[in-house]
Parts: sequence; structure tokens; C-alpha cells
Amino acid sequence: MTQGAMDQALAGQAGITSNTTKYVYFFGGGAADGNGRMKDVLGGKGAGLAEMTNAGLPVPPGFTIQTDACREYMRGADNADMNAEMLIALERLERLQGQKLGHGENPLLVSVRSGAKFSMPGMMDTILNLGLNDQAVEALAKRSGNPRFAYDSYRRLIQMFGDVVLDMGKKGFEAIFDSVKEREGVKFDYELQPQALKDVIVEYKKLVKKETGKDFPQAPLEQLVAARDAVFRSWNNDRAKTYRRINHIDDWLGTAVNVQAMVFGNLGENSGTGVGFTRNPATGEHVFFGEYLMNAQGEDVVSGVRTPLPISELERVMPRVYEHLRSITWKMEKHYRDLQDFEFTIQDGKLYMLQTRNGKRTGLAAVRIAIDMVREGLITQEEAIFRVEPNQLYDFLVPRLVEKGEKIEVLATGLPASPGAAVGQIVFSAEDAVKYHNNGTYRTIILVRGETTPEDIAGMEVAAGILTSRGGMTSHAAVVTRGMGKCCVAGAGDCVVNEAKKELTVKGHTYKQGDWISLDGTTGRVIAGQLKTLPAQPDDPDLVKFMSWVDPVRRLKIRANADVPRDAKQARLFGAEGIGLCRTEHMFFAEDRIGHMRTMILADNEKDRREALKALLPMQRADFEGLFETMESLPVTIRLLDPPLHEFLPQREELLVQIARLEETKPRSPKLKELRTLLARVQELHEVNPMLGLRGCRLGIAFPEITEMQARAIFEAAVNVKVKGGDPHVDVMVPLIGSIEEMRNQATIIRRIASEVFKEKGSSVEFLVGTMIELPRAALTADQIAEEAEFFSFGTNDLTQTTFGISRDDINHFLPAYMKAGIFKHDPFATLDQAGVGLLVKMATAKGRNTRPTLQVGICGEHGGDPESVKFCHKIGLNYVSCSPFRLLTARLAAAQAAVQEMQTGPDIHNGTC
Ligand code: PEP
Ligand code: MG
Repeated sequence: MTQGAMDQALAGQAGITSNTTKYVYFFGGGAADGNGRMKDVLGGKGAGLAEMTNAGLPVPPGFTIQTDACREYMRGADNADMNAEMLIALERLERLQGQKLGHGENPLLVSVRSGAKFSMPGMMDTILNLGLNDQAVEALAKRSGNPRFAYDSYRRLIQMFGDVVLDMGKKGFEAIFDSVKEREGVKFDYELQPQALKDVIVEYKKLVKKETGKDFPQAPLEQLVAARDAVFRSWNNDRAKTYRRINHIDDWLGTAVNVQAMVFGNLGENSGTGVGFTRNPATGEHVFFGEYLMNAQGEDVVSGVRTPLPISELERVMPRVYEHLRSITWKMEKHYRDLQDFEFTIQDGKLYMLQTRNGKRTGLAAVRIAIDMVREGLITQEEAIFRVEPNQLYDFLVPRLVEKGEKIEVLATGLPASPGAAVGQIVFSAEDAVKYHNNGTYRTIILVRGETTPEDIAGMEVAAGILTSRGGMTSHAAVVTRGMGKCCVAGAGDCVVNEAKKELTVKGHTYKQGDWISLDGTTGRVIAGQLKTLPAQPDDPDLVKFMSWVDPVRRLKIRANADVPRDAKQARLFGAEGIGLCRTEHMFFAEDRIGHMRTMILADNEKDRREALKALLPMQRADFEGLFETMESLPVTIRLLDPPLHEFLPQREELLVQIARLEETKPRSPKLKELRTLLARVQELHEVNPMLGLRGCRLGIAFPEITEMQARAIFEAAVNVKVKGGDPHVDVMVPLIGSIEEMRNQATIIRRIASEVFKEKGSSVEFLVGTMIELPRAALTADQIAEEAEFFSFGTNDLTQTTFGISRDDINHFLPAYMKAGIFKHDPFATLDQAGVGLLVKMATAKGRNTRPTLQVGICGEHGGDPESVKFCHKIGLNYVSCSPFRLLTARLAAAQAAVQEMQTGPDIHNGTC
């Protein structure tokens, strides 16, 4: 379409206004249509630009096309009103600037950038220098007196436009650019002279024509419309979708588009561009922190192609600009009362702010900044609780390298981009990381790249750590890993990464895919080999202080899933208020026990089974004593044997192979008879659907002597500990109940054994007998079950499995397809399905309490450590959640946030118990 035709088409639509939605918000000239509170409408970036403009900061003017327009675009609507408003805003911008988009002696050039409600750094697309064409570039060259800059800007536009709007990818452009550089004998982009850049432009345009069949559009308005639509489309590119899935961002929010007058950091040595933070986002330290490059555009700083300078250097080079920047960012931090992440450009010695927003930070930094800001009077203690994402508290628990007594060979030192340690096998592409993670080839993976790009997001998610040879502390790898709480060493310049050959060469050694290395993201060291790691100490004083604000406000109790005394100790260290689930079967897998367990299973009569159980009894009793002692007077919930018995026996196929071998080599061996007996029993126990077969309470009903042994071990242990001066608090839990009859059967055995033990020992303890609710029938008949059960614990792993009818072990076969199709927003085994499984939990709780008002209710499935699920448990009035020890801090914080939210907004009458 020609400029004229496009102008006409849009102008024709200008008069049509069919609804009242305002699609375009202007900012500039000291005032903005919008403001900082309008993130839903303007996206984070648009709202920030409006707020900065209203605050009188030096922001290049422009306009924001709001998120509604993106949603309409995604629905395929032809939005005439939006087009019309955009034209009006463009004219206003042209008037304000005294320029015309892509026209005249002083052409207006704009950037077109995405900006969603929630920051999605680098996930969507941006186009810079828009408005340049064959004429405008000459005008720009003349006016700036810097032809090199003008041609470079034009070739960047064609490249970005080709990649983002025309879907041509980057490779073809890069090949042309590299070949011209080679021809000219230069190493760096900025060494190319104007004529060479002109040659690049000619070749770029030829490439566009060849690949798309059309010329690179010369009409500035046509460029603008196409760029705007491409940014809308970028909301749905794969990396943006992956990012949203990981960060639980709704797919339907859409992005706003910000069209803003360009300012240039690449006008010459008096210009530059940079990014920074008002405090250190890795450690939280209260120091001005950032990087910049002179004579460069923004992408040069973050892409990692050139290594930027620390911002302190700017103070030396341009003290006035530096002071101005400091005072603006400090004001913005005070205004937003949060860490600011900002972008700026210096054009010919004049400072412009392109963005300031609340900055992403590591968990360590989040806690430290929250504490400092309370001390500085910027925020209240209650607000501080929300300044840390519950999952970020893992940072305090991330592993550290064991160095004492180890011979450590430091291969290279890069930037300490994201703290913690990672020890793993190296891979060189995101695809390989995903592949080898999913097929289990490598246990822990380190993704090694020259630099990462947003396309690498899925690989970064599965990697334990990231190593890059290029890029600074604000490079993509650094920013993204900090958000993920993953260890990252960035810009390790001594590492030569050959992604094509899958090799890392450093200090004369070449490491190939699958080789082990160790990373220390806290110091930036890359270390040879497979070091051991130590769990972090959770006794960091900042953390202790922060948790002392968190704990008093929460109502929900937090217990741990811990099977052995060692886990229980760890759990207490992380603040567990009891054990919510001890899976007793885990005690049987130890070498000294599995034999007895197998003898018990292989026994074909009750007498022999009882004999074997007798051998197991003292072992179980000793474990329980350890648990009771560690937990002192905190509740310890012990679940009776749950898994199908065949899990304790060798695999059928394994046995067949062993038998076949012996038949050939030692046909008379007594071992052969033994193996045949074992095989027969394995075959007898074989079930088509073991998770729906002989497991849970069905085991204790079919073989009451198992329940008897376990109950005896529990009560003997409790009495022994009590006699020694302890105060055990015992909850015995029956798994996989579906009916009151099952519950009654098992509870009767447990209570009978308790009285026997108490009589024999001449001492007793108080105890409760309760059940897990893991089957829909149990939830539906919870009122009846509560007649027998003195507590409920929702086993939401099995309850999710049985409610959805999805095998918890096989969901990976179709989960990616379900996520892609938008059927699942989350893995339901990770985040509780509130609408379905959650409804059962809520209903069963109400039914149970109707029968037994004092009923204690908790959950002990994996969801107990997931922040969203914990908040749901708070809302529906559970008494506790139970999770693995390393998730305790997360659960404690999530529970506190839920309680404060409830205080602020009142109970949720749709979900709550009222
Ligand atoms: C559950 O089903 O949620 C549960 C905790 O039990 P398990 O995972 O041991 O089946
Ligand atoms: Mg279960």
C-alpha cells in the first residue's frame, strides 16, 4: 500500500466512532492522558511513561495503544476506532515535535514497543527507528551531520522490521552484515563506514524483496501499522507463551503498544544509553547500580554484544548527566516506594528517561530491600510482606559449593549474575536442555551459551544453572535467571563457546556436551568438575527478621512432609509446626529392611507374615521414636502403609532375565528355585492398575496384621518417648479411604492395639485417628467418614489423580499439548485445581466439620508448598498445610500474604467458610 492509500484508508476510518472505549492515550508536553495506576489498560510500560510524564521527567513524548486493542486484534476484529485515534495521536505528536513521521528535513522517527500489565522482559517485540525510508535517511544524515549514524539506524530498522514484522528471522540479515564487515576488514559494527552501511542497506532491501516478494515499505504510516500489529502478534509468540505459563500470567490480558519519539544514544561520543537499578538487584545492597555504553542504542547494552561499563564510570565522564540521573531515579524510587529498574538515553549530552519500573530482584535482594525500606520509612511492615514472592525464599535455601578440603580449579570468572550454586552436565542449546531433561539423560543441566536470548526460555527453565561468555549484569541471562531464582554466571569472557560444535573451551581444555562443571553464581566462578553442594543456612539475619514479621500474621499452620528423623530436623530448622505426613513405606526401603519386607510380602500365610512383621517392628519403632523426639510436643502425623506391595519387589522382567541366565548356567542352583518362587508371587501380585488396586487402607484390611504391626510400633514408640520425659503428639492416618466402613475397620484395629500397648506398658499417650481424603467418594461422604475420623488430611496428589482420572505418573505425555491448547493453565499436580479438586476439598471440609465441629483439616499433597494453593487453603479455612521441608518458608509467606489480604479486603465469601 502506498503512503497516500494508507493515509486515505486510515483517514476514511477516522470519522467512524462506534463505541466509547478510548484506545489511545497520549503522553508528552508535561502531561499524560493516563497515569501510573492504569497498568491494566496501558500495560506496565505505558502506565510508567504516563506517570513519568506527569511527574515532569524528561520523557520523549508519544502515545500508548491500550490492551483492549490487542485483545480485539487477537479476536480478528477490524478496529476502525483504534486506527482513527492513532492517527489523531500521531498528528498531535508531530505537532508537539515540530516534525512529521518519516517526512521532511527533520523527520520524526518513533519506537514501537510492547508493554503488558505484567513485565515480560524481552519476550515480545520492539521496533526502533521507525519512519526511516530512502528519503528520510538522507535528511537524518544531513541534519545530524552524522551519516554513519543515519545509515546504521536505517539498516537496523530494516533488520528489525524484517525479523519482527515480516517474519524473516535474523540469520539472513546477519550473514549480509558479517560479509560486509569481513569485506571491509573490520571487527566491530561501529567501525563500518557510511558507504559500507549503504551497501548493507541495498543488500538488506534485496533480501526483503527476495523473501517476501515485496519491497521494504517506504510509507511511514504503513510501517507504523504493520509494526503495531506485529507487536500485538508477538503477545502470542512461543517464548511469550512459555514465559506466561511459568509466571502464571493470563493469556487473554494482551499487550499495549507504546509509540514514542526516538531519542538516539548512538549520535556520537556525546551520546549513550544505559540501564540500571536504584539498588543492587542481586544482593539488595543500597548502591546505585547499572551499566551503560557511549555511542550505542539500547539493544547494544542488553544484548551482550558489547560489554558495557559500570554506571559509576558515567559519573566521571558526564558528571552533570550522572547527577541528574541519580536525582530522577531516587525521586522515582521514593514515588513508587520500590526498587526502580530504569532505562535512559543521553542524546547529545541531554538525558532522557525511557522507562522506570519496579525492578525484578533475587529473593536475597527482595528480603533485604523490604527490610531496608521499612527502616527508611518508605513502606510499612505489612507492605514488606508483599515485597517478596513466596517462591523467592528458595534463594535462602539454594545450595552452596563445598570448597573446604576440595581442590578447586577455577576455569574462568564471569559476573555473579544470579546467586547460588549449580553443578551439572553441560548442554549448548535450549532444545538440548529440554530434550535431555525430559528423557532423563542428564540429572542436572547447565546451559552454556554465548549469550541467551528470549528464545532460550524453555531451556533455561529446565537448567539448574546458566553460563554465558558474553553480556553484563543486565543481560538477558542475568535478568531472567534472577527472576527464576537460578544460579547464573554471565559474561565469562575467557570461555569460548562453540554452540555449533557443542564445545566449551577454556584454559586450554575443551569440554563437550555432557561434561560436568560447577558454577558459583554468587562470586561468578566457573569451576572444573563436579563439586559437592551444601544447603544454604536459613539463619540469615535478614531472613530471620523478615520471617519474624511474616509468622505472627498468618492463621494457617505449616507442617512438613518428613519421613525420617533427618528430614524432621531439617523441617524444624525451616519452621515446621508439626509433621503433616510421614510416609511410613519410605522406612522399608533401607537395605536392612527391604529383605524383611519382601519376606512379609512373599509369605503365603498369616503366621509367616506375622513373623516377618515382627522383625520390622523394632526398626519402625526406632524411627518413630526419633520423629517424636525431634518434634517434641508438635503433632506428628503418621500414615499407615500405602503403596501397592509390588513396589517392594523386584521387577518381573528383571527376574525373568535372571532366571533365564541361571537356567543356562546353573540349572541346579537353589537360587533358581528361590527366584521362581519370587517370580510367581510377583506375577500373583501383578495388577493392571496398581494405583487403583491393592493399596492404601485396602492393604490393612486385606492383611490386618500390617496395620497391627504399624500401630504397635507407633504407640510403643510414643510411650517410650513419654516415659523418657517427652510429650509426643500422635496422629495416626489411614490412607485412601473411600467409605466410613473402611475407616471404621482400620480405626478399630488401631484403637485396640493402642489399648493393648498402653496396658502392657502401664502408660498411655493421647492420640487421634484420622484419614487422608484422596478419593472423590471420600470427599462426597465426608460427613459420614468424620463420624470415625478425628482429622482429615487431603492427599491432593491422589485426589487430583482420581478426580481428573489422570495418572499422576503419566501426565507428561500430554501436559505440553494441554498447556499449548490452553486447556490447562497450570500442571494440576503442581497448582491445585480450585474449581474442581478445590471444590471437593472445600465441600468435604464443610461436611466433615458439620459432623465434628472440632475436626482438624489440612492438606499434605504437593500443593501444600505451592503459594497459590496455600492461599486457597487459607481462604477455605483449613487448619494447616503440609509440604516438603524446602518449601516451608514459601508456604509460611504465602499463608501470611493470604491472611493480610483477607484483613484488607474481608473474607472471600465465595471461597471462604462463612
Ligand atoms: C497424596 O496423595 O496427596 C499424598 C500425599 O499421598 P502420596 O503422594 O504418598 O500418594
Ligand atoms: Mg496419596
